[in-house]
Amino acid sequence: MNPEPVAYDVAVVGGGSAGLAAAVTAARLGARTILLERYGFLGGMGTASLVHTFCGLYLQGEVGNPVLANSGFAEEMARRMIAATGLGPIRMGRVEVLPQHPVEFVNIADELVANEPHLTVRFHSEVVSVKRENSLWSFGLAGRGGSEFLNAKALVDASGDAVVADFLECETEMTHAPRLQRPAYVFGIQGVVGFDDAMRLRIAGTVVEGIRCGQLSKATLGLSFRASGRAGEIFGTIDLTGGEDTANYDPLDAACLGQLELSGRRIASDAIRYLKENADHWSHAYVSHWPVRAGVRESRRWMGEYVLTGDDIRQSRRFEDEIALAAWPMEFRENAKGPKLKFPMDQKPAGIPLRCLKPKGMDGIFVAGRCISADHEAHASIRVMGTCFATGEAAGKAAAGFAKNDASKF
Ligand SMILES: Cc1cc2nc3c(=O)[nH]c(=O)nc-3n(C[C@H](O)[C@H](O)[C@H](O)COP(=O)(O)OP(=O)(O)OC[C@H]3O[C@@H](n4cnc5c(N)ncnc54)[C@H](O)[C@@H]3O)c2cc1C
Repeated sequence: MNPEPVAYDVAVVGGGSAGLAAAVTAARLGARTILLERYGFLGGMGTASLVHTFCGLYLQGEVGNPVLANSGFAEEMARRMIAATGLGPIRMGRVEVLPQHPVEFVNIADELVANEPHLTVRFHSEVVSVKRENSLWSFGLAGRGGSEFLNAKALVDASGDAVVADFLECETEMTHAPRLQRPAYVFGIQGVVGFDDAMRLRIAGTVVEGIRCGQLSKATLGLSFRASGRAGEIFGTIDLTGGEDTANYDPLDAACLGQLELSGRRIASDAIRYLKENADHWSHAYVSHWPVRAGVRESRRWMGEYVLTGDDIRQSRRFEDEIALAAWPMEFRENAKGPKLKFPMDQKPAGIPLRCLKPKGMDGIFVAGRCISADHEAHASIRVMGTCFATGEAAGKAAAGFAKNDASKF
């Protein structure tokens, strides 16, 4: 127990792409900042769930000449990742993406936070309560040694699941279960010789054959492979339906999440066993790592002063108070049959107003990343990591400004 609560300028809940950006930005502006993360490393879905591509970094329609959509933290992450992996942006259909390696993401995040004297990072610290006390935000942390209470002048909710909104009983939004973006399970594979695009296509055929002859479950249809960029390493990604009863998929329910972990591991293990026996060059294949957690694409979001809509993205709408650009098309994964991309009419990005980061009727709280105020369609664009870096940076800036009594601007 800590009997004397410490007041920080800014507290950031969650250290994924958005929380990392928010915390580093606030600290760089001189705000005494604390970043609270329940795992032992930063990066969120980009590390714990092994998501291995930065999307949303580049403008659409710039064939062969990728142009960054957002400068600042997003640009810095792109530069650092390119230096770490030696891989540049690649074209996938009409969009450019940057391959990223989760191990490098963790290393970059460690380095970034170590360089900030105003920033304290607390790993293994889950925020379990938030309340307003004497014009400060007081939040409870559950750690291995027990619970602790700290205070901050401004708060950033970068938890991905809008946990702070839940603690404060604020208005939130979550898409009806049958339409929620489906989850996925990403895992690492080693021991395959000469994996390339041609082999990827052949393996897809081998998997279909395994399903046809009853040796693999139908769920294996959602499995795809991609080289990680490191010698001999492949990522397998299984798009999951969300459970037997897809209409009851609930990404906030521990039992439901537990089922995702179990089914992801079962489908992956069965598939690798089958491919070892039936695919050329896969006889020495093995699962080299499981993710810390299954990947959740969509869950609960804050209701902000403005709700960004699919129409805003389609019309490439711009706003006077915009703080970032949403450059990724709306990527729908409402079933486990792969993505459906919907592009804005003229391929231009939409603006994201600061109002999407400001909960309705509250002062001193800002939201970043995949739980900002957006409808289901706009969320399908703004949830990608390139955009989360940018909304995180903006939330960090706003929170630092608020804490310095610059509240009029926010
Ligand atoms: C399968 C899958 C594939 C994807 N593919 C891509 C892709 O190719 N490219 C791309 O750019 N994006 C992709 N995305 C989307 C992207 O990965 C996420 O939307 C993005 O990483 C979200 O970042 P975030 O910081 O908002 O949230 P998260 O990454 O979810 O981070 C939230 C962090 O908060 C922590 N946290 C939560 N609650 C608490 C608490 N109470 N106390 C302390 N810590 C807490 C969590 O541990 C986590 O570290 C994909 C997502 C999934 C699931």
